[in-house]
Amino acid sequence: MLFILEENVLRERWAQVEERIQAAAQRAGRAREDITLVAVTKKFPADVMIEAYELGMRCFGENYVQEFERKHPALASLKDAEFHLIGHLQSNKARIAADLFHAIQTVDSEKLARRLDACEKPLEVMIEVKLSHEDSKEGAAPEELPALIAAIRTCKNLNLTGLMTMPPWCEDPEVTRPYFRKLAALGREHGLPKLSMGMSHDLEAAIEEGSTHVRVGTALFGPRKKDA
Ligand SMILES: *Cc1c(COP(=O)(O)O)cnc(C)c1O
Repeated sequence: MLFILEENVLRERWAQVEERIQAAAQRAGRAREDITLVAVTKKFPADVMIEAYELGMRCFGENYVQEFERKHPALASLKDAEFHLIGHLQSNKARIAADLFHAIQTVDSEKLARRLDACEKPLEVMIEVKLSHEDSKEGAAPEELPALIAAIRTCKNLNLTGLMTMPPWCEDPEVTRPYFRKLAALGREHGLPKLSMGMSHDLEAAIEEGSTHVRVGTALFGPRKKDA
């Protein structure tokens, strides 16, 4: 093909992301199937998610419960899609989040875990870990993990599989890499095999450090609209 048709933009970008994931996995001696691409669709309409699904993407990450609640009715045909909440969750939205999502990656308190457990719906959960001292970042501190993990393991509807983190943004992946390495060490220490880390610009470093879930928005869908 001498030129790319407009409708093939998402297909092309997905192919590029897929190549990057495969190359990083190969460098790290890891199997491609041990890494899940979470397509981050915040601020994009349901139509974009449907297009991504039709191309073959199956795991979607959303940040805002209310935004996803609005899009969800249009996604009924996405039968085997998995929806992950990757944004902060307030306890008072636990019930609606439990209804809408298959996995909550951002559990960061025992109170939130208990609220989710009380919804009586089997949920995969991960703990969001705060590895920097940036005040604005959500997440549990590493020192809080032993108690929080023990509490979540008593929740009969919650299947705790791993840890998630969002390091301070830096365009240089080598600045972010130590955060990925630290999360991997915490995962090993606590027997949690899944690690949700790495985004559009630093997914290679994350995969090299053991990521099992890369959360990719911009590299697939292009720039998002700024917050209103
Ligand atoms: C928006 C977002 C992403 C995706 O970021 P990109 O740089 O667009 O790939 C990943 N994780 C979280 C928690 C996000 O909020």
